[in-house]
Amino acid sequence: MANLTEFTKDNATLNALYEGIKAKHNEQPRRYLGGSIIGKSCARQLWMDFRWVHFEDFDGRLLRLFETGHLEEPRIVQNMRDAGIEVYDVDDRTGEQFGVIFHGGHFRGHADGVALGILEAPKTWHLCEFKTHNDKSFKKLINEGVEKSKPMHYAQMQVYMLGLDLTRAVYIAKNKNDDELYVERVKLDRAAAESLVERAARIIFANEPPMKVSEKPDWFECKFCPYSDYCHGGTETIPSPLPNVNCRTCIHSTPQPDGTWLCEHSNEALSYDKQMRGCGDHRWVPQLLPNLKFVEAIETDIGALIVKYRLLNTDIYYFNNGNGSLVTREEYEEVGYV
Ligand code: SF4
Ligand code: SF4
Repeated sequence: MANLTEFTKDNATLNALYEGIKAKHNEQPRRYLGGSIIGKSCARQLWMDFRWVHFEDFDGRLLRLFETGHLEEPRIVQNMRDAGIEVYDVDDRTGEQFGVIFHGGHFRGHADGVALGILEAPKTWHLCEFKTHNDKSFKKLINEGVEKSKPMHYAQMQVYMLGLDLTRAVYIAKNKNDDELYVERVKLDRAAAESLVERAARIIFANEPPMKVSEKPDWFECKFCPYSDYCHGGTETIPSPLPNVNCRTCIHSTPQPDGTWLCEHSNEALSYDKQMRGCGDHRWVPQLLPNLKFVEAIETDIGALIVKYRLLNTDIYYFNNGNGSLVTREEYEEVGYV
């Protein structure tokens, strides 16, 4: 008889499940800055997201966890309908979720729904926001309320209420541990909502990354941040991995107020696909390589422009020919560029 312990240890099926989830969630980067994250405290992190500086490789378990949150949404809608509340999770005019759009489409969000018949104010339309919480977070939510315990969710609701011209939201949370529900009504704070929309504009239209939330690499928000190497990489090495090569990390690209992107180098409007590809004239926004100081641009005999950098406080030089490579002098000499 086969030894089942061996199968348990092998975990081939488990790995296949996670890989299947990863394959299914092979999503393209988001075109816009999302209203769901505008409440994050670090503006620099939001800028890096918007500029596609680095794509996180989430594992299957984590992706499944994100999926769990989404799967709960139709269930809560059904719970509300069963309680006699009128809920619309889709906008009849578009057949999609209710969307909010600011800054030409560079800043957007999608609401879980709108509802009428919330018992505490039955004649007032409410924005619906549904979230799942672990036990610790759920208990904190009960004790402190959503504004204090989940400021990101609160900011998201403020922006969505403003965008959908609503004055109230209903926040329904589920404890993933025991399925307990929590309901809180939230009022529109127009000044706070408008200031979040202005914050989004400052981030979107900034040519360079905003200030760091902290200069300390071990600051709690920086410690696990995917951009830590670009902010706190030290002066002795280049960031690893290097920032992505695409139009959004290129010094020549500018987001336009109408929601499009322009290449200032070729004066060309940049489609989404083109932004993803970049081109041979790509040059990183200098702040993304904080340890490298620009030395000179060298034109080769085949007309290519090579940028030479010096690693801070050293005599080590790096060369970039625009295709995302950043190589040492020895490597460049080997391929015959310098
Ligand atoms: S490492 Fe810190 S400063 Fe840099 S983006 Fe992340 S949170 Fe902001
Ligand atoms: S130079 Fe190339 S990579 Fe840079 S913005 Fe223009 S098309 Fe994009």
